[in-house]
Amino acid sequence: MDKKLYTPSKTKEIINKYGFRFSKSLGQNFLIDGNIIDNICDGSNITKDDYVLEIGPGIGTLTQELCERAERVIAIELDKRLIPVLNETLENYDNFEVINGDVLKIDLKELFQDKFNNKKVKVVANLPYYITTPIIMRLLEERLDIDKIVVMVQKEVAYRMKSGPGTKDYGSLSIAVGYYCDANIIVDVPKNVFIPKPNVDSAVISLDVYNKPKVNVEDEKLFFNIVRAAFSKRRKTLLNSLSKSTLGLEKDDIRNALESCDIDPKRRAETLTIEEYAKLANHIESIM
Ligand code: SAM
Repeated sequence: MDKKLYTPSKTKEIINKYGFRFSKSLGQNFLIDGNIIDNICDGSNITKDDYVLEIGPGIGTLTQELCERAERVIAIELDKRLIPVLNETLENYDNFEVINGDVLKIDLKELFQDKFNNKKVKVVANLPYYITTPIIMRLLEERLDIDKIVVMVQKEVAYRMKSGPGTKDYGSLSIAVGYYCDANIIVDVPKNVFIPKPNVDSAVISLDVYNKPKVNVEDEKLFFNIVRAAFSKRRKTLLNSLSKSTLGLEKDDIRNALESCDIDPKRRAETLTIEEYAKLANHIESIM
């Protein structure tokens, strides 16, 4: 099958041939726009040297272009009904392999070793939206050999991932993502480039993974606990949100810690930079 898969007529033809019914609970919204596929592939700078992991290939629309551009493409697809479809739609590509499994459960370290021989990998996907954040956090927290992640996600989540201090979108997700990588929006995407149309707008975001985290943190668990506690009551002062949290520190200790780090206790979570959170976490770690 050599024809481009992304045209609405080709996609409908394949879906009809297999009697495929979209599963809403698996976040199945398939791309039917060649420009967006090019935006995703161009934004990933994929060359014939690259190993690519795709999450959720669907019927192979984006995968086809990835196979054209990359050295090797491994895809993880949870819906087993799509495996025979992919075996047909991508039968001409011997640099493609699909694994039937759940990206949140599969042993990714082992997969990277087996399939990519510990070479740096690019992750590219039109993600299933119901698990966007867990997927991204898993990819980042497991410290896999990934140098770039380029994914389609809900627009709102994309903007939360790349936001900085003082904006309404800035929150614990911005800090978690900003700790591991440099995030940039590639393009906003309207609803009408998918079938079926999703309920929300989308955006393609590129995450360039740092060799080491952006800030030096002694205890990552404590750092992220502090960030989450601060943002859990984002309208309150840091003094209040942190002292009423599960950190287990008295109000006076929190005030002293904030003042020692030159952070006014009356400031709110959304005004602190990642560097200030790191400084605060390292100070609290030293007094605990
Ligand atoms: N890449 C295709 C495209 O752009 O047309 C399909 C994208 S669709 C938004 C998301 C895909 O992820 C679906 O094929 C769905 O079956 C798959 N999926 C959903 N949950 C998954 C999981 N936990 N692990 C792997 N794939 C999953």
